Amino acid sequence: MGKPTGFLEYGRKDGPVAPPRRRVTDFAEFHAPLPADEQRRQAARCMDCGVPFCQYGGLLAGMASGCPLHNLVPEINDLVYRGSWRQAYMRLAKTHCLPEFTSRVCPALCEAACTCGLHGAPVATRENERAVIEYAFSHGLVRPEIPPVRTGQRVAVVGSGPAGLAAAVWLNRRGHSVTVFERDDRPGGLLRYGIPNMKLDKSIIDRRIALMEASGIEFRLNADVGRSVPAAHLLAAYDRVLLAGGARRPRDLAVPGRDAAGVRFAVDFLTQVTKALLDSDFAKRPEALCKGRQVLVIGGGDTGNDCVATALRLGAAEVTQLEMMPRPPAARVPENPWPQWPRVEKTDYGQQEAAALQGADPRRYQTTVQAFKKDRAGRLRAAVLVRLRPRRDEAAGRTVMEPVAGSEEEVPCQLALIAAGFLGSEAYLPAAFGAALDSRGNVAADADGCAGRDGRVFVAGDMRRGQSLVVWAIAEGEAAARAVDRSLMGYSNLNAGPL
Ligand SMILES: Cc1cc2nc3c(=O)[nH]c(=O)nc-3n(C[C@H](O)[C@H](O)[C@H](O)COP(=O)(O)OP(=O)(O)OC[C@H]3O[C@@H](n4cnc5c(N)ncnc54)[C@H](O)[C@@H]3O)c2cc1C
Repeated sequence: MGKPTGFLEYGRKDGPVAPPRRRVTDFAEFHAPLPADEQRRQAARCMDCGVPFCQYGGLLAGMASGCPLHNLVPEINDLVYRGSWRQAYMRLAKTHCLPEFTSRVCPALCEAACTCGLHGAPVATRENERAVIEYAFSHGLVRPEIPPVRTGQRVAVVGSGPAGLAAAVWLNRRGHSVTVFERDDRPGGLLRYGIPNMKLDKSIIDRRIALMEASGIEFRLNADVGRSVPAAHLLAAYDRVLLAGGARRPRDLAVPGRDAAGVRFAVDFLTQVTKALLDSDFAKRPEALCKGRQVLVIGGGDTGNDCVATALRLGAAEVTQLEMMPRPPAARVPENPWPQWPRVEKTDYGQQEAAALQGADPRRYQTTVQAFKKDRAGRLRAAVLVRLRPRRDEAAGRTVMEPVAGSEEEVPCQLALIAAGFLGSEAYLPAAFGAALDSRGNVAADADGCAGRDGRVFVAGDMRRGQSLVVWAIAEGEAAARAVDRSLMGYSNLNAGPL
């Protein structure tokens, strides 16, 4: 433990963020790092408290508490406090092969479980992590990992999201020859085409992919496995196949007028925007999608928040976000004690921006769409909203939200983005390998992630656990890499950090 009294002497300080009105003028990352000295003081707040839930990563009351990768958080914080940046990176890299992503986009399960957060502000572990990995990159510590010996075993990874990337890094490290098949034109999965650029600059993904290629990992883009690339080809040419295709089947809204032009799925919209930005090297914004429009975002989660922020950057006249559930409490209730994940209202960056521009929080709780209205040309012109109230369904043993009669209201809108969650894996990829889906629409697998085909096909990430978080996808990818390695070699030593 670095500074026994650090948490008493220093308050929490986060890196500066650009004010909402300024940052909505472009798609750049807006969260700047702290100076190194201040970051060290932040790390000094870590108490090495003896009950490091921050690195626990297990489930409490059905929600993850602490880091699923089991990052050695108190040790890393101590090394940052001492200014031992190189050692801090080596310690971080022991458990985590892609920290530049989580240190930008993770909701920081570690911080929610930090002991300092019991009575005050938690240690700024995510920003400490970002400082460590960016120090490592800028000082040449993150190098291509070329294995000294190749095993002669070939592994195909399908999908280049965080699960596929993490698995590829670890399998290559072990000496297996890895090819990543990706149906999109660029690698990264939802890191690339879901999470907007202002949250994760796409050059951060390019930097990692370049390193992976220099390490010997091959990427085949525009390769849609199960369609343009037959499953039989992979099974014939590779010793193992790891499916990491995500959980992209969106939950739809079965309401009248759903076919109106201008009602779209959120991820399709976000993908189109990021692709247009990247294709033009950020010279052209696809403003025609939103400019001057009243935009309705259906879904109060992170995807919806990203839509709010993106629509504002494209010049939307007004953005409203609907959430079916009641507004969460502002602070923990007694039934949700630390170190459980706090089920409290979070006002994310897009909502802050909308509040600054529009004068009020864009969210409407306990509200959903009952119908869409079209103009004569079939274009969306309005949505009929209805209020919802909770009712206990004793037979089903759960609370359901039901419409309040007479609360219908028509609001004008010309673009509606459905961000109502995901229903699991698309069917064609697992079907091509004869892998079954479970009742939740995820690919069924044993504890090792093995999905059948005589132990040759594995599955990881959202495709196995359902739409989740980047940190879980990486944890899944690393675990799958160990399982694939064991199945090829009879044992696995994939736990030693970078080569
Ligand atoms: C809009 C949005 C914002 C999010 N923001 C955050 C956030 O801020 N923080 C966070 O922690 N999590 C966030 N998430 C969740 C997170 O992005 C996912 O949990 C994570 O990316 C899952 O990783 P994955 O590798 O399992 O799948 P994905 O990232 O979905 O990657 C799957 C890849 O497989 C490819 N693929 C699928 N089928 C085939 C095929 N047949 N052939 C070849 N390739 C195929 C896809 O094109 C894709 O590239 C967000 C999700 C969304 C939708």
